[in-house]
Amino acid sequence: MIYSGKLINLNAGPAALPDQVLQQAAEAVLNFEHTGMSVLSIPHRGVHFNKILEESKALVKELCWLDDDYEVLWMHGGGRLQFAMIPMNFLGEHGTAGYIDSGNWSADAIRHASFYGNVEVLTSTKKHGYQLLPEWPEHISADLAYVHMTSNNTIYGTQWDEIPRVDAPLIVDMSSDIFSRAMNYTNCSLFYAVAQKNIGPAGATLVVVRKDMLQRIQRNLPPMLNYNEHVAEKSVLNTPPVFPIYVSLLMLRWIKSRGIAAIEEENRRKAALLYDEIDRNPLFSTSVKKEDRSMMNICFRAVDERTGEMFNDFCTETGIVNIKGHRSTGGFRASLYNAVSLEDVKYVVAAMQEFETTNK
Ligand SMILES: *Cc1c(COP(=O)(O)O)cnc(C)c1O
Repeated sequence: MIYSGKLINLNAGPAALPDQVLQQAAEAVLNFEHTGMSVLSIPHRGVHFNKILEESKALVKELCWLDDDYEVLWMHGGGRLQFAMIPMNFLGEHGTAGYIDSGNWSADAIRHASFYGNVEVLTSTKKHGYQLLPEWPEHISADLAYVHMTSNNTIYGTQWDEIPRVDAPLIVDMSSDIFSRAMNYTNCSLFYAVAQKNIGPAGATLVVVRKDMLQRIQRNLPPMLNYNEHVAEKSVLNTPPVFPIYVSLLMLRWIKSRGIAAIEEENRRKAALLYDEIDRNPLFSTSVKKEDRSMMNICFRAVDERTGEMFNDFCTETGIVNIKGHRSTGGFRASLYNAVSLEDVKYVVAAMQEFETTNK
């Protein structure tokens, strides 16, 4: 194999970013849009950052086909803080929230909610080791405070085909597949995504909430934990993560320039290429149910531990990095987020084929 010197980073998050975005971010660190200031040092309540915020929020709405019924927020605290804030805000002490348990992140969201009210696990594939998606529940009560689901299960590599309509308000963790395909965002009362998978670097979290949801806030909460306060202060309740938001804006521009439809098509081709190789290559396999396989996080294993170790070394030698599975599952996980190109995936497939020929 000819290793060109360019690393192919398949990390599950923080994920690879396009070269163009990195270049623009680097330039802005030195001199932001010819202001003579670093983007790291612009005032967070000043005109420059305000423009960054406004443009990024408008792009999110445009890419998700949303109208003014929705508020876009940039927040701190990652996925975990959303796991906590959602029940804090929307689950009253005597209320019940429904959760779809399809993986580690869903389970952690459930754990956080149980601090604040009753949790009903509507369906779960925990006992199957999350190797497939659960059956969608036949009946979901409209009386639930909300229903929470994870659109893509980053650790186990399963993904829902679509965002369903539910009678109760639907809240979706889209951390690892937002902007990777067309989705029914308007079926959500709230959706959120940590930046470090498909949007940008770690440090910012995107939250999109429908305005009617904001009237359902149940508890008296400190401002930082109350969605209404973040909306009222337009994401500048305190000093926001200016740089991660700026890099996310660069990424949103990049996504828009390519278009969601083209991105989705490429993501489908990337995933199909790699799954075909995993299914064909006798040294590898996956136990993820075929219909439920994720386009974003592709989990697989080698036939035995020794082969796995050798393949891992081979990847390092050929410039493929961060392909190890999550610490809880082992094996391999190739995360094919938007910034990983079709060419990159072809290279990974070629590496698996060469590994096969040299290890027969
Ligand atoms: C990565 C991830 C999270 C957690 O994000 P943190 O910012 O590390 O808290 C939550 N949900 C999903 C689906 C993820 O992929």
